[in-house]
Amino acid sequence: MLRRLNIPGGSYLGLILLLWQLPNVHAFQTTNAKTLKVVATASMISDMVSQIAGEKIELTCIVPIGGDPHIYEPTPKDVQLVAQADLIVRNGLTFEGWLNELIENSGTSAKTITATDGITPIESQIYKNATDPHAWMDASNALVYIDNIKEALVNMDPQNASFYSYNHETYRDKILKTDTYIKEQIATIPVEKRILITSHDAFQYYGRRYSIRLESILGVSTDADIQTSDIIRLNKIIQENQVPALFIESTINPKVLQQLAKDNDVRIGGKLYADSIGDKDSPAPTYLDMLRHNTDVIVAGLTMDSVISDDMQEGQVGNKSLVYWSLAIALIILFAILIIIFNRS
Ligand SMILES: [Zn+2]
Repeated sequence: MLRRLNIPGGSYLGLILLLWQLPNVHAFQTTNAKTLKVVATASMISDMVSQIAGEKIELTCIVPIGGDPHIYEPTPKDVQLVAQADLIVRNGLTFEGWLNELIENSGTSAKTITATDGITPIESQIYKNATDPHAWMDASNALVYIDNIKEALVNMDPQNASFYSYNHETYRDKILKTDTYIKEQIATIPVEKRILITSHDAFQYYGRRYSIRLESILGVSTDADIQTSDIIRLNKIIQENQVPALFIESTINPKVLQQLAKDNDVRIGGKLYADSIGDKDSPAPTYLDMLRHNTDVIVAGLTMDSVISDDMQEGQVGNKSLVYWSLAIALIILFAILIIIFNRS
């Protein structure tokens, strides 16, 4: 048969080798369209990437959920992760002070993008030439984040461009709805009560967008010491404005804020998520859930609505709910007495 095909003797080996190589041709093509390895620095950015890219990429987040990205210390595992990455997505605006060194140490050839490129930053009120990194707290800024993320994904993985574009559009609508929701909710707080007091200054973008005054114990980074003058200033603000509630944050030790609340006889309105989303069992498992949850907690706290949650300090269950519970128990006792009297007669 081979003779009839007129294949010269020396080529038999070549043909066998060619046939042997065929499955590998397919393998080569698969490797060529390999899954993009994306590394995000913080959990809210990682969630945005995940909403657009889904299962099409291999996504890892450096700072774990609940961790503080301001003061994060990279591990040897992070060096490896960054070394193998194709794309690194960071917030920028001095948020990840540890990232440049990590990138250098890893020797990575990954492309690095700054998700806040194109946003008008808020300058730090304390430090010259420093910017406030918490741009994600304003939902309208998230539109810039996701544009930058989508563009990078499409450029690096054009095969899935339509998938990324479709998800980007859908996510965009959800962000716009969240933005409107926050605006409407904050508008329900009486103007004189719109003062948000937190542990660190993470809500300036939120305040600028949704018209709420911000005060905090620490500055825009958590990497600082608490000044007595700040405590005195906050005591004054709380007393002068009869601030009804203060708010703790998921990534920061609440001790000082709890003391401030105790000293001024005001309650803790709840726990806010600022520098990290919550885990999947929390009320803020995604970036948009985080914004909505924060808004609900702020509105409830500042309008003195009763919220029963684990975040409240012991013995600080809202007064309204205490009244409701007392009434319910009194009614049950009354019914029980009536039933006993009715049965006896
Ligand atoms: Zn922060």
